[in-house]
Amino acid sequence: MALNLMLMGPPGAGKGTQARRLARGFHVPHIATGDILREAVEANTPLGRAAAAIMDAGQLVGDDIVIGIVRNRLQRPDAATGFVLDGFPRTVPQAEALDAMLDRRNPLVVIDVAVDDEDVIRRLSKRRVCTGCGTIVGAKEGLPPVACPDCNGALVQRRDDRESVVRERLTVYRQRTAPLIDYYRERPTFRSVDGGLTEDEVAAAVADAAHGGSVVRRTA
Ligand code: ADP
Ligand code: ZN
Repeated sequence: MALNLMLMGPPGAGKGTQARRLARGFHVPHIATGDILREAVEANTPLGRAAAAIMDAGQLVGDDIVIGIVRNRLQRPDAATGFVLDGFPRTVPQAEALDAMLDRRNPLVVIDVAVDDEDVIRRLSKRRVCTGCGTIVGAKEGLPPVACPDCNGALVQRRDDRESVVRERLTVYRQRTAPLIDYYRERPTFRSVDGGLTEDEVAAAVADAAHGGSVVRRTA
């Protein structure tokens, strides 16, 4: 089944985890601009060299750069029947560019995963990423996890999950990305889900919103 889905929400809302689940379930690619940029940084490509310092400071990479990345990615054959976008768009110009790219495709389903700032800071300070399989591991009972539950791989903290950078990312989110809620709010395919629920509860709400497609009703 085709699905054009975009997940938005502050850093630490659990977008990445939910996006992977949905992409697997719908057999469409998970397109995460943050992951693509981090891979470019790892590989030390010209793109990576341009993005690294911006990302470490919690700022946004330029619109033209990320729009180009997404345009190329959406043209690959595996995205022909749909995609789950995670971390893009993050500004109004990016959203406008996406609308132009999707001109003749199915409508875009937009799900906002809402989490408040204190929760974001608490979650991200304990978030770790597996160096083996890329799984995102959250805190259980207040402690940072020690090893990957999936592959037992070593866990690391993302460079931009340090508290000072998290605060900057949140500020940037509220100023530049949250206005997208108003950009999409009036569409019948917009839904907001409570990111403070458990991972499975959020997954159920998100799947429901995604399946609803163009017939979902906007929640108050
Ligand atoms: P999170 O949602 O947890 O903040 P991401 O992995 O989505 O993290 O993004 C990490 C960083 O990559 C961002 O802080 C930003 O510097 C850069 N980035 C990712 N997507 C975009 C985008 N669409 N526009 C501009 N910068 C982006
Ligand atoms: Zn792992």
